[in-house]
Amino acid sequence: MRIVMLGPPGAGKGTYASRLTEILGIPHISTGDMVREEIKKQTPLGKRIKEYSDRGILVPDEIIIKLLAERLKKQDCKDGFILDGFPRTINQAEALEKIAKIDLVINLEVPDEIIITRLSNRLICGKCGAIYNLLTLKPKKEGICDKCGGKLYQRKDDRPEVIRERLKVYRKQTEPLIEYYTKRGLLRNVRCDDLMIPPEVMVKKIVEIIKQQKEIKSS
Ligand code: AMP
Repeated sequence: MRIVMLGPPGAGKGTYASRLTEILGIPHISTGDMVREEIKKQTPLGKRIKEYSDRGILVPDEIIIKLLAERLKKQDCKDGFILDGFPRTINQAEALEKIAKIDLVINLEVPDEIIITRLSNRLICGKCGAIYNLLTLKPKKEGICDKCGGKLYQRKDDRPEVIRERLKVYRKQTEPLIEYYTKRGLLRNVRCDDLMIPPEVMVKKIVEIIKQQKEIKSS
């Protein structure tokens, strides 16, 4: 299955995709993680894209499309993948259509109040990228990753003023994708109105939708 996770920043795309990857046995591909990795390694590309990421605005399409296209060529993507954070513009969606045939788009619907609370309490592992939340998904030991012992940090773009900018960018540039994928019959909505719903409950709902879609595909 080739799946796209769509939804505003902080909707849970990364958290759910990382769990789905274990259930489905296909890779979780986050363009945000790829961007952060380039920045961390201080590659020439990393230096170019840092400013966009820090300000919460989108990296130019041609850069991100190239990064993604390279990643999808890898052997581990041959049976499918879960895209998180890509596409984010109509232009990216059109480019993706030329690279791979998408089977399903999960659109996470989350109210702004939940997003802002969630992102302001989010922590990331600097070593393995695992996602925590001080309200809903606390690490066992403060500031330390349960999985790898790495140090947890707050993303620069999870500060309140940048969160607002990212939401604006989402509404303007990414939300039109809802109509784009609805028209193609690929979009399924999953709503989350309660901050305290545990990730496993949401993942279960998504797995049900994936099963239904697989049945439709094979019938
Ligand atoms: P994310 O972790 O998905 O919130 O992404 C973090 C940042 O990386 C975004 O605010 C953008 O600056 C950049 N980024 C990630 N994915 C994309 C994309 N598909 N198109 C453009 N910029 C992206």
